[in-house]
Amino acid sequence: MELFSRIIESGHEELLVYSDNAVGLKAFIAIHDTTLGPACGGTRIWNYDSEESALNDVLNLSRAMTYKSSIADISLGGGKAVIIIDPQTKKNEAFLRSFGRFVDTLHGRYLTTTDVGTNSDDLIYINQETDHVVGLPLSQGGSGDTSIMTGLGVYMGMKACARASWGSDSLEGKTIAMQGFGKVAYNTSLLLLKENARIVATDISPVALNEAEKLGIPTVSTDDIYGVPCDIFSPNALGGILNAGTIRHLNCEIIAGGANNQLASEAVAEDLYKRKILYAPDYVINAGGIINVSCEIGSSYSAERSREKTEKIYDIMTDIINVSNKEEITTSKAADTLAENRIKSVKLVKQIYRG
Ligand code: NAD
Repeated sequence: MELFSRIIESGHEELLVYSDNAVGLKAFIAIHDTTLGPACGGTRIWNYDSEESALNDVLNLSRAMTYKSSIADISLGGGKAVIIIDPQTKKNEAFLRSFGRFVDTLHGRYLTTTDVGTNSDDLIYINQETDHVVGLPLSQGGSGDTSIMTGLGVYMGMKACARASWGSDSLEGKTIAMQGFGKVAYNTSLLLLKENARIVATDISPVALNEAEKLGIPTVSTDDIYGVPCDIFSPNALGGILNAGTIRHLNCEIIAGGANNQLASEAVAEDLYKRKILYAPDYVINAGGIINVSCEIGSSYSAERSREKTEKIYDIMTDIINVSNKEEITTSKAADTLAENRIKSVKLVKQIYRG
C-alpha cells in the first residue's frame, strides 16, 4: 500500500523520519492522535529486517497507544518511536543524545519513554537533549519501573473478569497459567500468591524460570503451557500468540495477561467469543505502565495517585464486559468503541471552542 494512503487510513497525524549518519541512527516517530493530550509511547530499538517492517511497527504501536491512553482515562495521545539498529551499531551516549535531539524538535508534541530495547539508563542520555522524557528512574525525579503498576493492572483486570464469570472476584484457589515470567508476570504473581491463587509458569529463560521456582511456582515447557488446565491463561511474553493454532489447545475460561498485541487478528477474538472464553483486551489491562508515567506529568510523581488510577482498571474492564454482553460484540470491539467514543467527544468540544 502507498505510504500516504496507509497513514490516512490509520488516522495518523504525523510521521517523522530522522537519520544521523555520524552515529548510525535511523529512526521514525509516529504521532497517531493528540486529541486527549501530547502523544506518548516508548522508543523501541530493534534489528528490523526491513524499513517497511519498522514503519509498520511504529504505525501500529502508536495507534495502539492512542487506544490505551483513551480507555485508561488519561490525558495523553498516542505516539511511538522506533530506531532501526543493526548488530554492528553501538547504542552509546552519542547515539541516544542524537535521538534526544530528534524528540526535542517536536517541542513536547511527543513524549518518549522505555520500550523493548531501551531502559531507564538510555532515557537519562536522551534526557540530556530533551525534557520530553517520562519514566526516568525515581532517583532522577521520574516514576521508575513501570512493570509494578502494569502487574497490578493485569491483576485488577483478572479480578474483574473473575467477577463477571464466576460471580465473585476472589482468585483464591484459581489456577493461572503464566506464559512468560518476566517483570510483569512476576509482579502480577506476587499479588496472586497473596490471594492464594495457584500459578503454573513457563519461560524460555532459565533466569526467569528460577525466579518462578523461588516463589514455589511449578513450571512447564513452553509448548505445554497452552494445554494446562486452568481458570485463567495469562500471556506475558509475546504478541500474536492468540491464533487459530494456539487457541484450540486452551483449557481456560478467561484470558488476561500483560503482553501487547496478543490477538493475531480480530477473527481470533470472534472465535474466543463463540467459545465463551472471556478475553481481557491487552491494552486495557496492561495500561498500568502508561498510567504510571502519566502521573509524573504536570506535577511531581505520586505512587499513590498511580496506584489509585491503576486500580480503576477493574471498573473499566467491567464496563467493557457489560458493553460486550449488551451489544453481543467481542470485548476487544467493545473496548475499541469506548476508547473511540472518548476521543470523539473531546474532539467535538475542541471543535466547538475553535469555531
Ligand atoms: P520481560 O522481558 O521482563 O518479560 C518477558 C518474558 O517473556 C521474558 O522472561 C522472556 O524470556 C519470556 N519469553 C520470551 N519468549 C517466550 C516464549 N516463546 N515463551 C515463554 N516465554 C517467553 O518483559 P515485561 O516487561 O515483563 O513485559 C511482558 C509483556 O508485557 C511484553 O509483551 C511487553 O510489551 C508487555 N508490556 C509490558 C509493560 C511493562 O510495564 N513492562 C507494559 C505494557 C505491556
